Amino acid sequence: MRKRLSGGGDTVHLTEGEMAGLQDGDVAMRRLGGAAAPRGEERKMKIIDFEKKAGIRATPAFARKGLATHSCNVGFLCGHGCLYCSTPAVNRCQLRKACGMKSVTTSDGVAVRADPDAFVEAVSRDAKRMRPGLVELCTTVDAWSPEAQEHDLGRRCLEAILDQPGWTVRVLTKNIAVTRDFDLIEKHRDRVQVGLSITATARGETAMRALEPNASSNAERTLAMVEAHERGLRTFGMFCPLFPEIADRSIHDMVGFARSIDAEEIFMETVNMRGDNFPRCVDALRGAGFGREADTLAGLDGTGWSEFTAEAVRAMSAAARHFDTEDRMRFLLYPGRLTARDAAEIRQYGDMVKWLDNSEGEGGS
Ligand code: SF4
Repeated sequence: MRKRLSGGGDTVHLTEGEMAGLQDGDVAMRRLGGAAAPRGEERKMKIIDFEKKAGIRATPAFARKGLATHSCNVGFLCGHGCLYCSTPAVNRCQLRKACGMKSVTTSDGVAVRADPDAFVEAVSRDAKRMRPGLVELCTTVDAWSPEAQEHDLGRRCLEAILDQPGWTVRVLTKNIAVTRDFDLIEKHRDRVQVGLSITATARGETAMRALEPNASSNAERTLAMVEAHERGLRTFGMFCPLFPEIADRSIHDMVGFARSIDAEEIFMETVNMRGDNFPRCVDALRGAGFGREADTLAGLDGTGWSEFTAEAVRAMSAAARHFDTEDRMRFLLYPGRLTARDAAEIRQYGDMVKWLDNSEGEGGS
C-alpha cells in the first residue's frame, strides 16, 4: 500500500522562486499557479466496497462530448467529496443498495469503491474481450481518490487496459497521486492523455477548498500538469466546473496555461444544477466565509445560469483567439436552461461549443 497523497493531509506551499522556475516564459502559467491555499477541512470518509460487474463500458454520452468511447469507473461514489459532484444523482440506485440509505450525497461522508481485486480482474477481462477504443479513467468517480489509492486502483487499471493492444486512455483526476504513475504512462506515452481538472486559478483557490474537501489543491494540480508536460506526456486541459465569482474571470489564464503545456484539447464547462448540488455548494461557501460567491451562485436560478454561461463562452472564445487554440477548444454545454437569446448568440461560436443532451447528464466533474 502506498502512502496516500492529497486526502492524507499534505500541503504544498510554493515560494516565488519555485513558481518562477515553472514559467517557461509564459505569464499565463504564473497567474494560474500562484501559491497553494491552505488545505480545507478534510472530511473523513467511511469506505464501502461494493461488487461492480462491469470493468469497462461503452459510453455514448461521453463519445458525443468527444471525451471517450468507453468508461472505466472504480466505484460508485468518490471520496474526494466535491459538493457539486453529480454522481450521487446518476448512481442513485447503486448507492441506495450499497449504503442501505434512501439517498446518498457527497456530504454524507461515504465513499463507495468497487471491490478492488475483483474489479481489476473485470477491467482486464473487458480489455481483452471488447473492441478497443478510447477509455476514460474515470467518468463518474476518480481512480486516484484517497480510497482508490489504498489499492493502487489507478495504476492497476491502467496496466490492465494498456496490456491489451489497441486501447488508448484518457486519465482524468483531481489528485496529484497520479504523478506517481507517470513512469507507467511514459512507457505508453502515445496511448495515454493526462488531465488533472482545474477549477480555479490562485484567485479562486481558497473558495474552491470549501467545495472540494479531499481533492488536491488547484495549485498542486497545476504543477502536476506542468510535470506531465515536462516529462513529454500527452496532456489535455479540463477546466470544469467553472463557478461564478471563482473561475469566470480566470478563463483567459486557463486557456493560456493549457496552451503553454501543449494541451491537445481544452474542455470547459460551467457548473450545472443536478440533484441538490447547488444548495449544498451555497451553504458550504457561506459557511467558509465566501458570502459574495454564495449569493452569486444562489442567484443562478431563473435566467442567471444562462447569462453566466453565455459570458463564459464569450470569454473562452476571446481567449482561444488570443492564444490561437480555437481548433482545440471544446465548451461542453447542456442547453436546457439557456434562454433563446443566449442560445442564438452561442451558436455563432461554431465547433468550439459541444451541444449536449440534457437527459444524458453524467456524473463526476
Ligand atoms: S467531482 Fe470528480 S473528483 Fe469530485 S467527487 Fe465527483 S468524481 Fe470525485
